Amino acid sequence: EQVTLQQLAAKMSLKATDVLMKLLSMGMTGVNINSTLDADTAKILASEFGWTVEDVAVSEEQSLTAATEVSGESEEGSEARPAIVTVMGHVDHGKTSLLDRIRKASVADGEAGGITQHIGAYRVETPRGTVAFLDTPGHEAFTAMRARGASVTDIVILVVAADDGVMPQTREAISHAQAGKVPIVVAVNKIDKPAADAEKIMRDLSSLGLQPEEWGGETQFVHVSAKTGQGIDRLLESVQLVAEIQELKANPKKRASGTVIEALLDRGRGPVARIMVQDGTLRTGDVLLAGSAWGKVRALTDEMGRSVAEAGPSTPVEVLGLNEVPSAGDPVHSVKDGKTAEEIAETRRKKAKTLIPQDSRVSLEALTRNLQEADQLELKLIIKGDVQGSVEAVTHAVSKLSNEKVKVTIVNAGVGGITEGDVNLAVASKAIIVGFNVRSAGKAGQLAESEGIEIRLYNIIYNAVDDIKSAMEGLLPATK
Ligand code: GDP
Repeated sequence: EQVTLQQLAAKMSLKATDVLMKLLSMGMTGVNINSTLDADTAKILASEFGWTVEDVAVSEEQSLTAATEVSGESEEGSEARPAIVTVMGHVDHGKTSLLDRIRKASVADGEAGGITQHIGAYRVETPRGTVAFLDTPGHEAFTAMRARGASVTDIVILVVAADDGVMPQTREAISHAQAGKVPIVVAVNKIDKPAADAEKIMRDLSSLGLQPEEWGGETQFVHVSAKTGQGIDRLLESVQLVAEIQELKANPKKRASGTVIEALLDRGRGPVARIMVQDGTLRTGDVLLAGSAWGKVRALTDEMGRSVAEAGPSTPVEVLGLNEVPSAGDPVHSVKDGKTAEEIAETRRKKAKTLIPQDSRVSLEALTRNLQEADQLELKLIIKGDVQGSVEAVTHAVSKLSNEKVKVTIVNAGVGGITEGDVNLAVASKAIIVGFNVRSAGKAGQLAESEGIEIRLYNIIYNAVDDIKSAMEGLLPATK
């Protein structure tokens, strides 16, 4: 069956117009309350209102459509779950060393019998409870996941070397974490070095909006050394404090859902998927759907290489039994039977190439069109330029354009060509990329094309500002 916007709204006891507004604000155009929604759109839309869409059905035309059942996020059965943490920061500031140090600390705590295995993430025990760490540091992986609609991080640890300072990738990491609305704990690393200047780091980050708690702000700064182990306990404690404020919950009694962190084809074992279970409990024998792969779970292995029977919320686990290799960022669901899984997987495979609906594309033209239908819109921009001066000039000029109808938000601004990372950030935050005296580098152009991201290139600041201004007034002439 299909579900219309009106039906979905009714199931959530919301006004159809409110749901429509939300959809428009997400960049959809050409929809009204009688429009039928595809399953992915319905899911995303429902989640915006705090609902989950369960039980995805397959229609006659074999298209994945929305759900037969919408259930409220019931508090019943919900329990606190461990936080999932990603480590970010500039190259060489110590992300890998820190992850290694944290992992070693937990092994020393007496997890006998196992040898740590790389399964994409691991858990550590702290006096205040468990914390899960994603193994791949850096904001690229974080944003690539978000671009695919997955959010697998509750807290970001921002590593800054105390003998160095705030660097370009430090700034990028902050933008990416903020765009994902993920709280940051700062690890001022390499504190053992004679040249370490923690005060300077605190000052520099304050000017970027990360105010230390001891200076009356809201961000925890912890002095650590990944080399000596100094401060690691306190870092974990700070992470737990932030986690407690977030009141992270999940229901272990539900069917499992989560995200693929990485996947590969193993000669002996077949497709291997490393999954972060985010809700529910995954068990061997469950029928699992991961993107367009599916299968009966044959074996589950934890980060100590031990075979386990089940994995609950915030638990990383390696899964055997899928029929093909899924992609990182693919959503994972345990479904009721193989027939359902196969049908959905099949539909997804067919739709894989057109997953981004034409009309959900974000562009200045779309903004112009949407103006007629919505009250308030947000225009998100990523600005890249050849030199810091021009980046600042463009950023400053367009920031001032916000009016009562359109709010301009700069998601990220930086020096250099337009990268795949920029495009992923644009997808994740539904932004337009404005390049000033720069071009796209590597495969960024191709990725933007396939993801439906608009890249606008300019050589004259005035032209950039003028186009954006016209679009905001609903006056942008349609191009070509
Ligand atoms: P990444 O690129 O951010 O993952 O950084 P790495 O973890 O690879 O660290 C870069 C370099 O800094 C390596 O040579 C590490 O040994 C060194 N390093 C990392 N943390 C510390 C620390 O706390 N103190 C000192 N003295 N060196 C460190």
